[in-house]
Amino acid sequence: MAKLIRCECGFVGRGDTEEEVIGAIRGHLASDHPVLLQSVSREDLLGWIEVE
Ligand SMILES: [Zn+2]
Repeated sequence: MAKLIRCECGFVGRGDTEEEVIGAIRGHLASDHPVLLQSVSREDLLGWIEVE
């Protein structure tokens, strides 16, 4: 099963593990939403993870 996080802009970060998907969304936030990246914690990101 893949894990994923959907960004509000439509980007979907995917990974096989929580660490991978958090890494994917962090990379996306850093390039597209740097202000948002500063305001979300690791716990917030964990709460955004969906499993498909
Ligand atoms: Zn985004």
